[in-house]
Amino acid sequence: MKTHCPYCSLQCGMVLEGRRTLEVQPWPEFPVNEGALCRKGWTATGLRGHRERLTTPLVRDRTTGELRAAGWDEALDLVAGRLRDLRASYGADAVAVFGGGGLTNEKAYQLGKLARVALGTSQVDYNGRWCMSSAASAANRAFGIDRGLPFPLADVEQTDVLVLVGSNLAETMPPAARHLDRLRARGGHVVVIDPRRTPTAERADTFLQPVPGTDLALALGLLHLLDAAGAVAEEYVAARTVGWADVRRVVATWWPERVERVTGVEAAQLRRLAALLAASERVTILTARGAEQHAQGTDTVLAWIDVALALGMPGRPYAGYGCLTGQGNGQGGREHGQKADQLPGYRMIDDPAARAHVAGVWGVDPSSLPGAGRSAYELLDALGTSSGPKALLVFGSNIVVSAPNASHVASRLGDLDLLVVADLVMSETAALADVVLPITQWAEETGTMTNLEGRVILRQQAVAPPSGVRSDLDVIAGLAARLGHDFATDPEEVFAELGRASAGGRADYSEITYARIRDEHGVFWGSPRMFDGAFAHPDGRARFVAVEHRGAAEPVDAAYPVHLTTGRVLAQYQSGAQTRRIGDLPDAGPYVELHPILARRIGAADGRPVVVRTRRGELKAPARVVDTIRPDTVFVPFHWVGANRLTNDALDPSSGMPEFKACACAVTA
Ligand code: SF4
Repeated sequence: MKTHCPYCSLQCGMVLEGRRTLEVQPWPEFPVNEGALCRKGWTATGLRGHRERLTTPLVRDRTTGELRAAGWDEALDLVAGRLRDLRASYGADAVAVFGGGGLTNEKAYQLGKLARVALGTSQVDYNGRWCMSSAASAANRAFGIDRGLPFPLADVEQTDVLVLVGSNLAETMPPAARHLDRLRARGGHVVVIDPRRTPTAERADTFLQPVPGTDLALALGLLHLLDAAGAVAEEYVAARTVGWADVRRVVATWWPERVERVTGVEAAQLRRLAALLAASERVTILTARGAEQHAQGTDTVLAWIDVALALGMPGRPYAGYGCLTGQGNGQGGREHGQKADQLPGYRMIDDPAARAHVAGVWGVDPSSLPGAGRSAYELLDALGTSSGPKALLVFGSNIVVSAPNASHVASRLGDLDLLVVADLVMSETAALADVVLPITQWAEETGTMTNLEGRVILRQQAVAPPSGVRSDLDVIAGLAARLGHDFATDPEEVFAELGRASAGGRADYSEITYARIRDEHGVFWGSPRMFDGAFAHPDGRARFVAVEHRGAAEPVDAAYPVHLTTGRVLAQYQSGAQTRRIGDLPDAGPYVELHPILARRIGAADGRPVVVRTRRGELKAPARVVDTIRPDTVFVPFHWVGANRLTNDALDPSSGMPEFKACACAVTA
């Protein structure tokens, strides 16, 4: 069975063979990964038959406080009954729904429909807010549309200079790193910007190592130098953009020595990079979580888009700007209605025409659809408060591990009247639930995902699920039925409905079918290469947006003198609920990466425990002393409980993205 990896946004193609023992084999013809997989992909079948797999619904016994086995009807009747009661007592917004960027398009669509139609609540959002919402917000403003990469990933091999801002793709999606090698083999130049000298940086020709949270200032410095050198593509700027004059005014004060003081990157390095960009015909700039997961993430991405526009790149072949999505369906997950402000097809929920169209497909009155709800963290922060939701349904997310300021979020979950979690294993969030619903996993179900290029691919069912589990689509339909609504459960039927609901929207899937996806190695929504003639704003022009650098929401000070940043490691994925249970993947537990200079100063030794404290919590974990990180910064991977007890819940005002990537901490041995 040809299918795709259950994890990241590359959605590598693979073949599953066998019935009893399911084996992963390469699928060399699939163009995105050409048969290559990372360690996570090769071991993806490891959860099949796992002893921790949930196979029966669980309901918390009110007397003992323990979870006990229950039948499906009992569990779903109980959930639907409690939801009805809470709605009757407090109104529709007393019930909230939380989805995930790993859910298939069909599930994301049905979850949004469950919230808006069956529950009538505006309180629906998903963990994709924490993935790349700042890049989405910036791309919408600059280009009028948001598709992570507006060109196929392989195009980066043909560019002249590839600038990766806050991306460690060699470790997070290793099959993609071959594009860097091929680009360099044909004489191209790779630039990596990261506070850590990562495996990606090791493959770079130029490496800049700024203080966490200062990527925006770097971009302003580059714009200053490009303008001063007369390297701005004036003709392109005049013909295809608006707003350059405002940007020019802001960047006039960002001379290289000022940038050096803010970022720690030497002025001479910045000058060399500006000269390289100015002299290159094709430049591609890609951002990832390092640039985006900040309270100023949208502005940071806008500044890098400004650089690309000033050079005249977006819309030219083998050049431009793109974002490397993270989660498996980071792209499709935000297009079909599980986001608080959106309806299917990337339509905005406050647009009367969008409401009328989608309500028509759903067979309801447009006025019955709720308006925009709270963004993901705001939603969690409101749980159990007097004005917030009293019940939460969670699908495809392990928020106790992945939310910022996670101890606070866990306490909010504790204030709920009802917490329902659908998951395949007892995740840290499921363990807190009143009702746990066991669901099918990848390879036991069919559905589409949209990869980082906007290519819609099909994950196909290869094996029967264990008895006792149901698909998310079944669970959603089961709840909807108990609330008086008839929802489809067949993925292909749901996809066809999604296509009708998205028709005419910004992300229009109406021409895409399962048959076409199978025949064509996936189908792009929109054109594979966008912007060659025009951008998606009504006047066809891209927008420069003038932004200023403000820095991290929580600057370092005497009490918390070290920068903390977080990220991923090769062998684990997101909250680790799946990968931490796969025996063939090393599970090192959390650790704290720090520089020898910092280690000496605090008396820490490699392998010995250190304590990292922030204003929100603390983590004790072994030190990894490495000279690849800035001496003023520590790094903690976020796949284990603990890292996000430290992180800051300051939010980007435009995207709702929390500042995962920079806060102030104190480190002691
Ligand atoms: Fe490919 Fe990502 Fe899966 Fe690794 S985790 S095999 S890079 S899709």
